[in-house]
Amino acid sequence: MSGQVGIAVAGAAGRMGQMLVRAVLEEPGARLSGVTVRPGHDWVGRDLGEAMGGAPLGVRVSGDALEVFAQSQAVLDFTTPEVTIANAELAAQARLAHIIGTTGLERDDLEKLAAAARHAVIVRAGNMSLGVNLLSVITRKVAEVLGPSFDIEIVEMHHNKKVDAPSGTALMLGEAAAAGRRINLVDHAERGRDGITGPRGENAIGFASLRGGDVVGEHEVIFAGAGERLVLGHIATDRMLFARGAVRAAMWGQSQPPGHYNMLDVLGLRDAEAELPDR
Ligand code: NAD
Repeated sequence: MSGQVGIAVAGAAGRMGQMLVRAVLEEPGARLSGVTVRPGHDWVGRDLGEAMGGAPLGVRVSGDALEVFAQSQAVLDFTTPEVTIANAELAAQARLAHIIGTTGLERDDLEKLAAAARHAVIVRAGNMSLGVNLLSVITRKVAEVLGPSFDIEIVEMHHNKKVDAPSGTALMLGEAAAAGRRINLVDHAERGRDGITGPRGENAIGFASLRGGDVVGEHEVIFAGAGERLVLGHIATDRMLFARGAVRAAMWGQSQPPGHYNMLDVLGLRDAEAELPDR
C-alpha cells in the first residue's frame, strides 16, 4: 500500500461520515487509515464495513482520535464544532492535513483553528462542491459590478435534521457578496426577520433559512434592483459531492505548507477571484 495517502474519517457514523468513508474507498491514491465515532457509540471496536451493514473492510472503528491520527496523513472531519476544535489540536500535533466541513463554528473556534494552522494544513469550507465555490466567485463579482443599488438576499433550504442556521454555505456566499461590496458581513448581516423590523438596512445582506424533508442543500443569491432581479443559484442533489471534494482537499493538502486554506485554493479558483475588477 506504499504511496497511498492514509486518510481517516472523524464521525464515521454520521450522514456525511458514511459518505466520506465511501469517497476515501473510491480514491485510488488513498487508503482508509482509520475512523472515529463518538466515544461510547455502539460501533466502537467493530469492523467498519460490518457496522455500516456491508462486507468487512478490515478497519476497526475507534473512539480515540489520537490513536487514529497517529496512523494517518489526513483526516476528514464533518462533525460538530466542539469535536472539530479538539481534533484540530491533535491533528496539528500529528502534522495531519485537517479537512473541515463542520459548520456553525464561532469566532473563538476560528481563532483556535488559526493557531493550529501554524503547524499543519487546514482546509475548511462550508461547502466542498465545485459548483458552490464557483458560485461564490461569481457572487463576489456580481456584487461588485451591480453596486449598492441592488439589495442582496440569500435564501437556503436544507433537510429537517440540520441544527445550524443560516447554513455554512449561505454564510460563505454572504462573505463573497460582502467582499464584492467591500463591507464587513458581520456588521451588515440580517439573519432572520420577525415582527416590526423597520425597513431594510442600507447595504444589508439578508438571510432566510427553510428546513424540511431530505433536501441536501439549495442556495439562491438574489440581487434585487429597481425593475429587475438577478438570481444566482445552486442545487445539491447528492451528499457524495461534498465527500469527494473533501477527499480532493486531503490529497491536495499533502503538498502544501502549513496554513488555513479553503476550497478556492484546492480548486484553483483563486486566480478567477484575482481577475475581478479593481482588485
Ligand atoms: P450528523 O449529526 O449525521 O454527523 C455528525 C457525527 O459526528 C455524528 O455521527 C456524531 O455521533 C459524531 N460525533 C459526535 N461526537 C463525536 C466524537 N467525539 N468523535 C467522533 N464523532 C463524533 O451530521 P451531518 O449531517 O453528517 O453533518 C455534520 C457537519 O457537516 C454539520 O456541521 C454539517 O453542517 C456539515 N456539512 C458540511 C458540508 C460541506 O460541504 N462543508 C456538507 C454537508 C454537511
